[in-house]
Amino acid sequence: MIFNKLKKLALVTFVSLSAIPTMGQDILARQAPIDKKMKAVDSVVLSRLVQIEQLENPAADLYEDWNNKYAHKATVLPDTFRIDLRNFCMPTTNRVVTSNFGRRWGRQHKGIDVKVYIGDTIRAAFSGKVRMVRYDGKGYGKYVVIRHGNGLETIYGHMSKQLVDEDQLVEAGDPIGLGGNTGRSTGSHLHFETRLCGVALNPAIFFDFRNQDVVGDYYMFYRSRHDHESELANRLRGAGSGRDDMAQNDDDVELSVAAPEAKYTKDVKFHKVTAGETLSSIARKRGTTVDALCKLNRIGKRIRLMPGQILKYN
Ligand SMILES: [Zn+2]
Repeated sequence: MIFNKLKKLALVTFVSLSAIPTMGQDILARQAPIDKKMKAVDSVVLSRLVQIEQLENPAADLYEDWNNKYAHKATVLPDTFRIDLRNFCMPTTNRVVTSNFGRRWGRQHKGIDVKVYIGDTIRAAFSGKVRMVRYDGKGYGKYVVIRHGNGLETIYGHMSKQLVDEDQLVEAGDPIGLGGNTGRSTGSHLHFETRLCGVALNPAIFFDFRNQDVVGDYYMFYRSRHDHESELANRLRGAGSGRDDMAQNDDDVELSVAAPEAKYTKDVKFHKVTAGETLSSIARKRGTTVDALCKLNRIGKRIRLMPGQILKYN
């Protein structure tokens, strides 16, 4: 749809450019500079429109829709994805991680807990658009979900007060709430999640709370190594294991995902790669093309497929 919009705008621009008086020139001679101008205007107009679209609908290429229904809804992760971490802001200036991402009490803790006090300012980690501002008394408490232009979604839980509205645009560093102890939480803290395509990734692979910094300008996400990197990040930047006050923060957050799968299973189909398969053999089998597969999964044609890898097709 955006492309239609773009085309229309480009056309309007073109027509107005063509109307520039060109006395005494033959049509071919004046075509060339117009083409040149057209290109320049074109790219300015296009990049402007793309910027606007990006603000209104951040990371639209990664997410099928924009809704305020689900805090998160796991979809298939890209094999590789570059996440731009420049222009970040630490969500809190507090440096003490009280609980790591990962297994905890036999369940998965999908975020990182950072000690904050009631009333501490919580800030947007990147610029983006607020997708949800809700209360969940059995889990996140008062929480905010933001979708960012870099592809990530961040979730901030257990706050005492939310300071933004749904669908509001925010800049990195904008105050979005105040630290608290709402929901399933004992002891005020910030539960902070970073998700890509709805899948929780260890915030410690991006953020170093102790040093109040990101780990680099970019984070190159490779699905094949993210478990390993997540463990490493816990060791390097987390609280470490064996803490005895972990029970304090037992706010595990496997929740508020109200039967979201239906839409996806209807619209998108998945193929699980088996040994020996290639993109073209899968394309043939599924009645699609290699190009379509690559586009849909955001992969290159020469990627090495791994058995067990999931590809979208439809
Ligand atoms: Zn937590």
